[in-house]
Amino acid sequence: MNILVTGGAGYIGSHTVKLLQQKGHNVIVFDNLSRGHIEAVPEEVSFEKVDLLDFDSLSNALNKYEIDAVIHFAAFAYVGESVDNPGMYYTNNVSGSINLIKALNNKGVKKIVFSSTCSLYGNPEIVPISEKESLKPINPYAKTKFMIEHVLADFEISSGMKYVALRYFNAAGADFSGQIGESHAPETHLIPIVLQVALGKREKVSIFGDDYPTNDGTCIRDYIHVNDLADAHLRALQYLNDGESQVINLGTGRGYSVKEIIDKAEEITGRPIKREITSRRPGDPAVLIADNKKAREVLGWNPQSGLTDIIKSAWQWHLNPKY
Ligand code: UDP
Repeated sequence: MNILVTGGAGYIGSHTVKLLQQKGHNVIVFDNLSRGHIEAVPEEVSFEKVDLLDFDSLSNALNKYEIDAVIHFAAFAYVGESVDNPGMYYTNNVSGSINLIKALNNKGVKKIVFSSTCSLYGNPEIVPISEKESLKPINPYAKTKFMIEHVLADFEISSGMKYVALRYFNAAGADFSGQIGESHAPETHLIPIVLQVALGKREKVSIFGDDYPTNDGTCIRDYIHVNDLADAHLRALQYLNDGESQVINLGTGRGYSVKEIIDKAEEITGRPIKREITSRRPGDPAVLIADNKKAREVLGWNPQSGLTDIIKSAWQWHLNPKY
């Protein structure tokens, strides 16, 4: 297939591009490189530095290629930043996505896999969280994803564009080759921060609250290896050849607390990781764990990597990052 990947220079995008290429697909990457890394894009891939907010450039770039399907990652993805600067998030994530969807519709592209998030569920009532849980996005970032899920549903009605919205839990880890990995500036995610402490690049990790109603008082999250996420995107594309539109959770179904993550990272790196308890981070639910039954049934997806592989691969990357 000829597959367009927007945001293909980003973290999850670049791992997906690599997998698509390995499976013999013809991959085209559109990325404005505002957050992505050109080094993460393989040389053999067709690359266009294009901003989704520029509708004419986007349409011109699209017209250069035959495209069978699209995976749309390109978006800003920091919750805190979205709270401080909602205009930037609504513009980039909502207006940019609408431009893309309109341009694809003009071109007659009918299949899109969309990068969504478990933060649509806000503070869920039932955990593990199934797709039936009510949607209560509690920050601008989550609301941008919520809006685009609705936009996709409306375009399906108007023009038969089929979509799979994949609601990720906590993406983590790096490709086992050591060639691509997670590189955010500033870094806000737990596992990279913990590994930066192990490397001596930070003095300590702050544990954001230890008074949650969990076994050790710290928040529990469902960490999913980035290559397992990539695999789900490929499966979603194949599914769309004759399947109906879907929203699907992507998580392992197993959660780990912040303290468990730090302890595991100490074990894997063999280095002490200094920690301190600080106050809660606003908006953090106590427990987010996926019910991944639908992903297993609809996509035949079966995540391969557990926490050890996640932290080992992330550690390999952080010891020798390429960008
Ligand atoms: N966390 C923490 N200290 C940090 C970064 C994160 O205690 O420096 C906690 C955070 O409160 C959450 C979990 O680690 O419970 C995962 O946070 P992350 O930002 O990696 O992902 P999120 O769950 O927010 O998408």
